[in-house]
Amino acid sequence: MKKEFAVIGLGRFGGSICRALSEEGMEVMAMDMDEDKVNGYSTIASHAVVGDSTDESVLKSLGIRNFDHVIVAIGDNIQASILTTLILKELGVKHITVKAQNDYHEKVLSKIGADQIVHPERDMGKRIAHNIISNNVLDYLELSDEHSIVELVASRRMDGNTLIDMDIRAKYGINIVAIKRGKNIIVSPQATELIHQGDILIVIGADTDINRFEKNLV
Ligand code: ADP
Repeated sequence: MKKEFAVIGLGRFGGSICRALSEEGMEVMAMDMDEDKVNGYSTIASHAVVGDSTDESVLKSLGIRNFDHVIVAIGDNIQASILTTLILKELGVKHITVKAQNDYHEKVLSKIGADQIVHPERDMGKRIAHNIISNNVLDYLELSDEHSIVELVASRRMDGNTLIDMDIRAKYGINIVAIKRGKNIIVSPQATELIHQGDILIVIGADTDINRFEKNLV
């Protein structure tokens, strides 16, 4: 059975989720109170409906509780986002993802039981900042306040060395979980794997250790 999604709020964030899910072949119902926005998604989503998600009877009549996953992507109107989440929760929706505008919004969402809370602008800002600070950092995923997964480009200094030669795990306490080389990806590389300049190393560890590794070797 195909999973069914509903996206409420078709601004830049909700719209892009709706488009990406549809491109993956998922069933998506797109909803917004703005008719123009809805019209823009009528050929992209499986169904596109005009409606106010803070009105419980509207959500009920759409059979919202039968959807596997509902994404609340209401931007600036924090009150509408909270109320919508509360109604979805009360109607028994299985999985609810909500976009938060700030920490206060997140706190309330978590109290009322949103399953997943996302901060796309904040997270993207952090990722881009890492990328700007270091030319070698291609991408960055925060695991906790102190741990990350980072994609680094292997430097000339690393070229022709194996992971053992560089003694990465002992010296830096980090792990290289995969190496991307052109179109190939080597998952869990052997310690004897030769590194080439330009390889993309996917590194997991404490931020301080990754920084040390970057400064000394990259
Ligand atoms: P973004 O920052 O992702 O671009 P926006 O604030 O521009 O977000 O968009 C949020 C969307 O949510 C708008 O299209 C708006 O019409 C819609 N929206 C806001 N409140 C409701 C509501 N109660 N019901 C349905 N859609 C809503």
